[in-house]
Amino acid sequence: MNPLDKLVTYFENFPGIGARQARRFAFHILTMTPEETKEFSALVSGLQDSVAECASCRRFFAQNDGRSDICELCASPARDHGKLLVVERDTDIRSIERSGVYDGLYFVLGGTVPLLDSRENKKLRGGGLKRIIEARLGSGLNEVILGFSVNPDGENTGRFIESIIREIDGADKLKVSHLGRGLSTGSELEYADPETLKNALQNRY
Ligand SMILES: [Zn+2]
Repeated sequence: MNPLDKLVTYFENFPGIGARQARRFAFHILTMTPEETKEFSALVSGLQDSVAECASCRRFFAQNDGRSDICELCASPARDHGKLLVVERDTDIRSIERSGVYDGLYFVLGGTVPLLDSRENKKLRGGGLKRIIEARLGSGLNEVILGFSVNPDGENTGRFIESIIREIDGADKLKVSHLGRGLSTGSELEYADPETLKNALQNRY
């Protein structure tokens, strides 16, 4: 396979990108200046070294000092450490932070549990979530918010998390809440507008 076709194949594997878009991306790179190409390839090759996965919430964050294993959200004393919002993926956190209505902590589960194949839950960070909740129960955690998309898989994932929470000693002190119905059925959290997210969080039940 020639380099151009190889690059197209990489782009085709990107989420939501089809064969035609992948070709357009590759041909766009051919129109870039040598400086742009150099910067672009340096960014790609250095990305995994400059970004780390937070040991607490599991989101990716830019490591400025190169040492911290906790992201700035988890480390911030200004955040409400009594609330933990569980989301499917990193990009959901970006959307919620943009809405500016949530001041608690997060946990990135890493996916959802499909309604038709619950064995898929093994690929998620259920064990990691259980350990974080156990650890944080002693330091004031009092609410876990299930922040999943409004669709059958999202609801199934919510039940999976509730089953994990029931296994935790002292979990009866925890309030487990769901995002309010501001989110329309079938909608993905990542694409919800800030106003909708704000309503969903304020009207959680
Ligand atoms: Zn974090």
